[in-house]
Amino acid sequence: MAEETIFSKIIRKEIDADVLYQDELVTAFRDINPRTPTHVLIIPNKLIPTTNDVESEDEAMMGRMFTVAKKIAKEEGIAEDGYRLIVNCNAHGGQEVYHVHMHLVGGSPLGPLLMV
Ligand code: AMP
Repeated sequence: MAEETIFSKIIRKEIDADVLYQDELVTAFRDINPRTPTHVLIIPNKLIPTTNDVESEDEAMMGRMFTVAKKIAKEEGIAEDGYRLIVNCNAHGGQEVYHVHMHLVGGSPLGPLLMV
């Protein structure tokens, strides 16, 4: 059984977060430490630690993360100029919170994708 993170508490509304969207599959909230003018995290409600743990039964949930990202990008007014969706995995990917999350970042030019 995977260990819960602070994101499970956000999903259950046990701690404060700026939640923009929630349905039966996913939750979206503003990153507490925004790196761009718009920085939103979109997460599955089910605890999946990393993308290595995604199963075929999770495909609807993973797909919903993209449609919610699209909806929020439009609401934030960044859809036309563009944005970036990022999912980090494990140490080399720079993952800090072990509950799969998609970063929606934008609101200014992001430059080329960092390759380190
Ligand atoms: P990652 O490095 O991909 O695991 O990203 C984790 C992200 O979660 C970071 O951008 C953090 O700023 C963000 N974060 C951590 N705790 C919270 C929280 N309580 N509310 C909102 N965002 C958070």
